[in-house]
Amino acid sequence: MKAVAPGVERLDQFPRPIINVYLAGDVLFDAATTWDRRRVFGQIRDRELSLLALTHAHPDHQGLARDICRDRDIPLACHADDVDAMEGRVPISGEQLTNPVVRRLQASWEGPPHPVGRVLEEGDEVAGFKVFHAPGHARGEVIYFREADRVTICGDVIRNLNYLTGMSGIGEPPEMFTYDPAENRRSIRKLADLNPSVILPGHGPAVTDIADFERFVGELPAD
Ligand SMILES: [Zn+2]
Repeated sequence: MKAVAPGVERLDQFPRPIINVYLAGDVLFDAATTWDRRRVFGQIRDRELSLLALTHAHPDHQGLARDICRDRDIPLACHADDVDAMEGRVPISGEQLTNPVVRRLQASWEGPPHPVGRVLEEGDEVAGFKVFHAPGHARGEVIYFREADRVTICGDVIRNLNYLTGMSGIGEPPEMFTYDPAENRRSIRKLADLNPSVILPGHGPAVTDIADFERFVGELPAD
């Protein structure tokens, strides 16, 4: 694991962080895909866990949720607006997915439904982080923001990964996985208004050059 902020570690992924899982204290943030079983279980084996908290219930964030919660006997937390997806009442791979190849890939990453033991709302606290609702990419997307030092876990509100080159680069989440890109841009502005000191995204390395992030926000189309 790599320390990415005080008291926050990111699970290793070879050769670089593509699908991120963070550990802050004894709370695990996100559960990668079903393909990540070895690397995730291997790295959390000796760590104390009290909760698995999702940034949102998409297949690359909830893949191992059921298995981790069962194996470690811990509750699962996600935002109220993603409970139906996490518990299997609505499809997890959003209805906006029309490309059959991508749809198959996503389906192969997806983990089974699991009951949500702790339903999150804006203003709640998880491991010292405050919950902010940030829909647009997923209905129940949240930002976890630690007021004391403005460390921010942002899920897929932004990515720091160029999906073509595999290198870092700040961007909006891909449109094909985002049910309302304009709504997500409002969430990006909400993220910027928090004035984060470091942004820990769902995909790609930590964003430490906040001036670069602010430039990106300034260049977003107005909605
Ligand atoms: Zn994602």
